[in-house]
Amino acid sequence: MHLESPDPVPTYDVAIVGTGPAGSTAARLLAEGGARVALLDKAALPRYKTCGGGVLGRAYRRLPEAADLAVEREFRTIALNFLSGGPTLSATRPEPLVHMTMRPELDHRLALAARDAGAELVESCPIRRISETADGVTLESDTRRFQARFVIGADGIHSVVAKAGGWSDLPHLAPALEWEVTVAPGDFARIQDDARFDFDVIESGYAWVFPKHDHLSIGILSVTPRYRDLQKRLEEYMSRFPLGEIVKIERHGWLIPLAPRREPLARGRILLVGDAAGLVDPITAEGISNSLLSGQLAATALLESRFDPATAANRYLSLLRPAILNELRAARFLARFLYHHPRLRAWAFRHHGQRLTDFVADIAMGDRGYCGTLLNSASYLKLLRC
Ligand SMILES: Cc1cc2nc3c(=O)[nH]c(=O)nc-3n(C[C@H](O)[C@H](O)[C@H](O)COP(=O)(O)OP(=O)(O)OC[C@H]3O[C@@H](n4cnc5c(N)ncnc54)[C@H](O)[C@@H]3O)c2cc1C
Repeated sequence: MHLESPDPVPTYDVAIVGTGPAGSTAARLLAEGGARVALLDKAALPRYKTCGGGVLGRAYRRLPEAADLAVEREFRTIALNFLSGGPTLSATRPEPLVHMTMRPELDHRLALAARDAGAELVESCPIRRISETADGVTLESDTRRFQARFVIGADGIHSVVAKAGGWSDLPHLAPALEWEVTVAPGDFARIQDDARFDFDVIESGYAWVFPKHDHLSIGILSVTPRYRDLQKRLEEYMSRFPLGEIVKIERHGWLIPLAPRREPLARGRILLVGDAAGLVDPITAEGISNSLLSGQLAATALLESRFDPATAANRYLSLLRPAILNELRAARFLARFLYHHPRLRAWAFRHHGQRLTDFVADIAMGDRGYCGTLLNSASYLKLLRC
C-alpha cells in the first residue's frame, strides 16, 4: 500500500487516537492551550457507540456547552429496584442525576467542539501502526502518516496505542448488552418517565432502562468476564415489563473495562485515557466521567510540562492517582460487596437502602467520592448506620 502523504509529513504537538469523550476532551483542551493537535478516528462521524448514553451529573459538569444539544432527557430522580422481593428505592436531587444522550450525537458534538477550538479532526482514518522515535511518534493508517511529539491513546478497549506501547491486556472486561428498543407511542408514554437500575436480574450485575427522546435504551451487564447467558437474561428482564408492541429493536453488545491496565498509564511519549486505560467505575460501570476527567488530566499534564517527555508522563500519573486511580481502588473493594455477596447486599439494602441509594446519588453528582467514604471509617460506619 502506498502512503499518500507527500513530504513533509504533518507534524503536531499531540496526536490523539479516538474521538470518544476522552479523546475529544483532551483535543479540545490542548487546542485551547495553544497546542497543535490532530484528532483521529477510524470512523466517519457520527458513528454508533454501544453505550447507555447516561451522562451522570458528575460527568455533565465536565462537558462543553455545545454538548447540551445532545441531551435528550434529564432525570432528577433515579430508581434502584431489587426485583426478588427487595426494596424499591429512589433518590432525587435538584439538578439532574443523569442526562440521557445518544452517543453518536454526543461524541460528534464533542469532536466538533475540539475542531472549533483548533484541533484538526481526521475521520475515516484507522491507525494501524505507531512507532516511537527519539524526538517523537509516528502514526500510520493505510494511506496516511502523522508525526507528533506525543500520542494520546483514547481508542477504547482494543487500543492499538496501548498495544504499540507494550501495555499488557486490560485485566477485567465485563460483557454488556445495549438494545435500542422502539415501542408503540402509547406504550412509550407509559414507560418514559422512569430511569431505572434493576438488581437481582442477573447474579453479578444489573439491568437498566434509559428512556430517550423517542425510544428506550435497555441494557444489562455482568461483572463476570465471559458470562454466557447475557442475552437470555436481558430477554427475561424485558418480559417482566409490559413493554407492549415492539416496533423496532437494534441489538448491540460490547465490553466494559472494570479495572485499569496493570502498568503505569503513561510511558515515554504515550499517555492512555478513558477505556483504553481501563478507567470505568466498577460499581456503576459508568465510564464517561473518567473518560472526560482523564482526557482533561492528560491535556493538563502535557501543557504544564511544555511537552517535555521527561516530566509529562510523571505529571499525568501524579494527577491520575488521587483523582481517579485511588477512587477506582476503593470502588473495586465496594463492588466486591455489591456484586459477589448477594445476601449481604440484600440485607444492607433492606435495612439501610435509602442511605445507600443517597450515597449512590451523591457519587453520581460528584458530591462524594468512594475513597473518602472508605478511608474515613466513621463515615463508612455512618453509611450503614452501624
Ligand atoms: C453496553 C454499555 C453501556 C454503557 N453505558 C454507559 C452509560 O450509560 N454511561 C456511561 O458513563 N458509560 C457507559 N458505558 C461505558 C462507556 O461507553 C465508555 O466508558 C466510554 O465510551 C469510554 O469512552 P472513551 O472516550 O474512552 O472511548 P470510546 O467511546 O470507546 O471511543 C473510542 C474511539 O476510538 C476510535 N478508535 C478505535 N480504534 C481506533 C484506531 N485504530 N484508529 C482510530 N480510531 C480508533 C473508535 O472509533 C471510537 O470513536 C457503557 C458501556 C457499554 C459497553
